[in-house]
Amino acid sequence: MITLSYSTLLTVLPLGLLLLTTAANSAPSNNVSTATSSCPPPALSRLTRHKVAPGETIEAIAQKYNLISATLIGFNPTLRTGQLTVGSEIVIPPFNGIRVEVPPNQSWQQIATKYKVRADVLFEANGCQPVSQFVFVPGVNWSPEAPSTSASSLLTGYPLPTKAPVAMGYGWQINPNTGQVVFHSGVDLLAPVGTNVQAVAAGTIAFAGEQGSYGNLVVVNHAEGRQTRYAHLQKVSVTTGQIVEQGQVLGTVGTTGERTSAEPHLHFEVRYNSSLGWVAEEPTL
Ligand SMILES: [Zn+2]
Repeated sequence: MITLSYSTLLTVLPLGLLLLTTAANSAPSNNVSTATSSCPPPALSRLTRHKVAPGETIEAIAQKYNLISATLIGFNPTLRTGQLTVGSEIVIPPFNGIRVEVPPNQSWQQIATKYKVRADVLFEANGCQPVSQFVFVPGVNWSPEAPSTSASSLLTGYPLPTKAPVAMGYGWQINPNTGQVVFHSGVDLLAPVGTNVQAVAAGTIAFAGEQGSYGNLVVVNHAEGRQTRYAHLQKVSVTTGQIVEQGQVLGTVGTTGERTSAEPHLHFEVRYNSSLGWVAEEPTL
């Protein structure tokens, strides 16, 4: 079990997978010099943590940090049930806004237009640096916009032939290799290399191939704006556009991409489509 014993200020790199080096190295060196001294550090590098005390409410914690509740709920998926666990730690951004994943090759102007914010404000809030995979959009209120049907009613299958131990859960976690706190957008299920990976529900293959830190990745779009992702595969046995049934083999467990654990595992993600983009949610397995 990982213990969260951190002081208030931490450098948190916001990544889909638990991968720190990728983001740190993704900014071309010639752009680093463009960050001016007048620019504050990126908002996502200034996240702090708050340990929930008895009697505290989400609203009270938000007020304490001059934030609105929606901001805290957006940054802390565990709060979406409305429950606060005493002693647990939640992540506090420096000001109101949302953390979003952006498609490759987006400009600050494009992101600003999408979220109806000023491009210069957006640029500054992100440390006057090139667009990275995850950005902080200041002043946008998080809202769930989750499909009316819960994931459990649709995504009823299991991504492996037999129930597997969870090596790392969903949410803010400490990378055992580096000690840094990062957002883990899925669950890691331990399974030997070569184990079949199967679709948890019928759908259409949205992506099948190599994608950066995910390694060999299969993305399946399901009904009702749901999406599942299967990463670090050894073999990929489907192609983009293909229709798959529940339980159909998508590939096999492998060790491709960048992983936190040396032990072979399947990185499995569930997302839903909202106006804020594909939002990761906690898989119900
Ligand atoms: Zn993972």
